[in-house]
Parts: sequence; C-alpha cells; structure tokens
Amino acid sequence: MATTDLSVSNAAAGLDAETLSMMLAALHDFARHELPDSRMLELDHEDICPEDLVRAMCGEQLGIQLLFIPEAYGGMGGGSFDVYRVCEQMARLDVGLATSVLATFLGSDPLFVGGTPEQKKVWLTRIAESGILFAYGATEPEAGSDLGALRTTAVPVVENDKLVGYRINGRKQWISNGGIADAYTILALAPAGPTWFVLERDADGFTKNKPEDKHGIRLSNTAALFLDDVFVPLDNLVGGVEGQGLVQAQQVFGYTRLMVAAFGLGAGWSALDRAIAYSTERIQAGAPLSEKQGYTHKLIVPHVVRLEAARASIEETTTRIDAGEGENGALNTEGAIGKYFATESGNTAAEAAIQAHGGYGYTRDYIVEKIKRDVRITTIYEGTSEIMEMTIARDRWQQHLKTRGEYYRERARELDALHARRPDVGANAAALATWALAGVLEACRVGRLTRNQHVLLRLGELIAWAECGQPRPPTARCRRRRTPASLRPSWPPSAGRSRARPHRPSPSTDRAGYAARPRRTPS
Ligand SMILES: Cc1cc2nc3c(=O)[nH]c(=O)nc-3n(C[C@H](O)[C@H](O)[C@H](O)COP(=O)(O)OP(=O)(O)OC[C@H]3O[C@@H](n4cnc5c(N)ncnc54)[C@H](O)[C@@H]3O)c2cc1C
Repeated sequence: MATTDLSVSNAAAGLDAETLSMMLAALHDFARHELPDSRMLELDHEDICPEDLVRAMCGEQLGIQLLFIPEAYGGMGGGSFDVYRVCEQMARLDVGLATSVLATFLGSDPLFVGGTPEQKKVWLTRIAESGILFAYGATEPEAGSDLGALRTTAVPVVENDKLVGYRINGRKQWISNGGIADAYTILALAPAGPTWFVLERDADGFTKNKPEDKHGIRLSNTAALFLDDVFVPLDNLVGGVEGQGLVQAQQVFGYTRLMVAAFGLGAGWSALDRAIAYSTERIQAGAPLSEKQGYTHKLIVPHVVRLEAARASIEETTTRIDAGEGENGALNTEGAIGKYFATESGNTAAEAAIQAHGGYGYTRDYIVEKIKRDVRITTIYEGTSEIMEMTIARDRWQQHLKTRGEYYRERARELDALHARRPDVGANAAALATWALAGVLEACRVGRLTRNQHVLLRLGELIAWAECGQPRPPTARCRRRRTPASLRPSWPPSAGRSRARPHRPSPSTDRAGYAARPRRTPS
C-alpha cells in the first residue's frame, strides 16, 4: 500500500497491483456466489434492495469500504485509480449495488474533506471497522443541479449563552441508501451559509419515506428524508465551522465523478460482453451475426471504441490525481469529461446491446434490458450530462480566450508531431479533430455565439469527444511499486483479519491514501 513507500518522491497513491487484483478477484467471486443472474433479475423485478448484500459488501465478508478509508482509520487508503477499477467491476455486477457503496463513500466525503481530526476518527473508523452505511443528503425537491437553492435550514440552539447545537428542518430528495443508512451527512443552510451536519439514523424528528419506484437501479434503496426540528449537537457540525458546505462539495468532483464514469464504463461493457457472446451464437441468413459487418460495425465496434476511449481518459485523470495533480479541484474539468463521455458511452452501448439481441433484448428475461435501465442513472446523478457539458465548455472556453486560441492549436501540433514519430497510433485523425475544434471555438468567439447556452453546451460535447479521442501514453500504473508480501493484507478481510492492516502513519496527511489526491471533500 502506498504509504509504506511515500518516502519515494513522486510515488503515486494507492494499492499495489497485487492487492488491487485480489480485491477485484474477490469481488468477482462474491458476485458469482451471491448474485447469480437469476437472483439479480428476481430482485430487479420485485424491486427489492438486498440490504444483506450491501452490508456484506461493506463489511466483514468483502470489505469494499476499506478501499476508501485511509490507513490511519483502519482502511487501506486506495488511490483514485484503484477506486476506478473497483467501481467498474462493481458496475459490471450491478449499478444499484455499486450505488449503495458509492453512497457511503459520498456520505463520508464531507468528513474526509472538512471534518475535525476527532470527527474523522469517530466516523471513518466506524465505517472501516463496523461497516456502517452512510447516505449523502444534498439534493432537495427544489434544489438539484442548483444546490445553492437549498431550503433546509439549521438554526442555532443556544443554552446559557452557549451554542450547543442546531435544529434542522427541511426535506431531502432522491437519497441513495436513504432508507437503510446508519448515518447521514445533511447539507443545510446555517446562518453563515450551507453547512454539513452528521446525523444518526434514529435522531428524533428524522423520518424516511418509502423507497422510490425507479426506472432502474432497483437493487438500490433511494428515499426522501424528512427533518422536522431534528436536534444535532455542535460536535456534529462538520469541521466545526459554518458555511463551508458548497466549497467542500465542489472540491472533489474531479475524483467522485470518475467513480460514476467507471459505473458507465462497467455497465456499458457488461451489456456489450453479452451482445458479443450472443452474436457468436445467433445464426441468421446462414451465419453467426458476428460475421455480419452491418451488425458488428454498428452495434458492437463503435461502442467498444467509445468505451475504451473513455477508459483511457479515466485512467489518465485518475493517475494524475494519484500523482497529486488534483488538489483543490484542479482536475474537475477532466473529471467532468470522463464522467460525461463514459456515462453517455455506457448508455449508448447498452442501447445497442438491446438492438443486438433483437426481440429477445426487449424482454425482461435478458439482462441487457436491465442494464439499459440501470446505466441510465449515471448520466443524471453526480451532475447531469448537461451540467457536465456546461462545466467542460466554460473551463475550456476560458482557456481558449486566455491563450488567444492556442490551447487546442498547441495540442493539435503535439498530435501532428506524435503522428510523425508514430504513424500507427491514429494521432493524425486526433490532430485533425483538434485543429477543427480550435477553429470552431474561434468561429464562436468571432461570432459571439457562446452567449447562446445551446452553443456553449454543444461545445462541451465536442470538447469531450476531442479530448477523449486523443492517443495517450500508457498510464503510470505499470510503474507502481510492489508492496512486500509480508506487508500485504489478506483479502477479503474475513479470510485473515478484521482490519485491513496495522496502521502506519502517513508522513504527509492523516488521510494516508488520499495524500496525493484532491483531499476528499464531499461531493
Ligand atoms: C436514483 C437517484 C439517486 C440519487 N442519489 C442521490 C444521493 O445519494 N444524494 C443526493 O444528494 N442526490 C442524489 N440524487 C440526486 C441527483 O444528484 C439529482 O437528481 C441530479 O443532480 C439532478 O437534479 P434534479 O433531479 O433536481 O434535476 P434538475 O436539476 O431539475 O434538472 C432537470 C434537467 O434540467 C437540466 N438542467 C438543470 N439545470 C440546468 C441549467 N442551468 N442549464 C441547462 N440545463 C439544466 C438537467 O441537466 C436535467 O436534464 C439521486 C438521484 C437519483 C435519481
């Protein structure tokens, strides 16, 4: 694990390759034993969240939560790259279950980023050791993409001239794990501005609505929360200072959005894998469908290419985050590009997989139909695709203006140079696209077209395509160090230990594994 060798300069954060492989293999085995296709379809049809499975994944049996928790609190301190790989694998299994794990991760984010040392110790240790589930309560009926419109209030409670806590009133909407979590982080409007509070599940005045009847991810519990005069002690104000909530929520989007990007990737591949297998068995017009170019080159190949382009983008950004380039949200635009492209590609791939199955794909007995409904959420939560387009376009538009149009021209020149050195990697096509993008941006400047929001958002789309389509060097993953066998944990935790590993303090932060990534804030 990373912190053993953090003394090595420029060492990337994260697990060693062997531990990550062990985790992925354990997850694969868990899926095979606990969630065969027949059970998955049954749970989906009956609209049941298998809480036992969620708790098994986040507890002794599998211990996925240890990946997200720093070693200082009993976790394994996985890096951003590790988290992407595990998220992809979870989504290949079921996006609903993956969402439950994500909810604990997101729910604890305000504590990671803004919590006091005591708060971190209490809550993060509980997640690591007891596998408690968290929920992340930001969205409200009137405040979705625009979180600034939140109406839930936190009114100070003063006794004997001393602030002792807050009374929270309001409603939260679409909260993953809402009905099953043990603890909640709730964003509420305190006198100094939006602020995170931690809430125990049994607090007086705190109630949860029945689970939503959703289009997809039906294995995930999603519920509205009602807060009626809920008292929260001062100790539960995250960070002890009001008004930090939205800043904290922004800080790690580059990181958390890549988790949802990995969901799009995993679900998209899960659908394609099934379509590819089907195409080799289904005989039409005397030959397998896999031999018909009109089929493969419409329904399979373009989606493989898109998903792998998305993967390259995700891998590059996670590797950069692990190398320390993502501090204070510095890679948020790259995170938005990864999320946008991977989730849209996953969604399109799942749609194609239904088509590739013909009439069978349109029936509930075939898992591609479920995957298509499941993957759809990835273009909505953690920032909708339209908000991603806006985020991407605004940032790159500023770069275009600041550099007087050189931002993409410079990249295009680099790609031309790459093509001259390596004519086999397709850099000429990427260069052409990048030159064209630079031209389109300049035409928009001259015509003052970005005043139209539609134009701006379409630029966001073009930019994501152009950036994801660029050839990249192999990630630094292959250069990562190996943890000596004596220090490697057994996996899963129940196989040989109750905690990930003995604590070894990090030299640079109390959040060992996250030392080099943007310090996890909420999201
Ligand atoms: C299954 C599920 C699980 C969820 N889990 C959680 C959770 O655990 N915690 C949590 O806090 N939230 C959660 N959410 C909420 C989710 O993050 C929001 O649904 C999402 O951010 C969008 O907000 P909204 O639904 O209010 O849509 P809106 O913001 O109203 O958007 C509606 C449409 O308008 C578009 N739009 C919005 N603003 C603009 C704009 N300025 N310009 C152009 N177009 C715009 C959007 O892209 C979208 O297409 C979950 C949602 C679902 C469905």
